[in-house]
Amino acid sequence: MTAPIVELRDITRSFPGPPEVQALKAATLTLDQGEYASIVGPSGSGKSTMLNILGLLDRPTVGEYRLAGALTGALSEDERAAVRAQFIGFVFQAFHLMPRRTVLDNVLMPMLYSGVPRAEREGRAERALERVGLGHRKSFFPGTLSGGERQRVAVARAVVSDPRLLLADEPTGSLDQRTSGEVMELFEELNADGLTLVVITHDQSVAERAPRTVRIADGRLSEAS
Ligand code: ADP
Ligand code: MG
Repeated sequence: MTAPIVELRDITRSFPGPPEVQALKAATLTLDQGEYASIVGPSGSGKSTMLNILGLLDRPTVGEYRLAGALTGALSEDERAAVRAQFIGFVFQAFHLMPRRTVLDNVLMPMLYSGVPRAEREGRAERALERVGLGHRKSFFPGTLSGGERQRVAVARAVVSDPRLLLADEPTGSLDQRTSGEVMELFEELNADGLTLVVITHDQSVAERAPRTVRIADGRLSEAS
């Protein structure tokens, strides 16, 4: 049997004060490969802290995190960056696209220093854009796209290196209801293709699209029934 992709055990993340804030309190979470889970909670409940730890952007104060079976606590910053590049894709609320680069250049960014030859990078980026239904927009600049299209470009960029885990922090937070729906449908398709997915949101209707919903309140996780 393959190890779970994510195993968080009794994770606490404290930010020193005063006053000290415990953004996560003894959080335990296991995600199997191919799972699609949402983590839902109000503003300030610890969602972004959770995503940052899952994505190796931050370290827990206490507790251990195994990613694909391997303990992450002892990794150096360089090793963490390498694991991140190989395993994890990120999508954020504000898209974070480069406005002066074409859609294609934005999508191939994560591969720029990967040693993948240019022609292959472009091929992969084109395929990622096809996957999100935006192959016809590859020469456009982000500013000419709708919000929903921009977020789909960001999703293409997040999956271009074939990550094992996609982490999305409030991916629909800047979108209206219709374009949010487009992005959520895309997540469902990617998950159906086998991608493991965590969507973090304050929006209950977005959270309910995932087969599994985990609640977070004041830094504590609980499984929704
Ligand atoms: P959410 O994403 O659910 O809105 P966050 O994870 O961003 O919540 O924040 C959870 C709590 O941790 C909040 O009380 C926030 O103020 C605090 N917090 C987050 N990041 C920091 C930081 N870098 N320094 C101090 N406190 C922080
Ligand atoms: Mg947040």
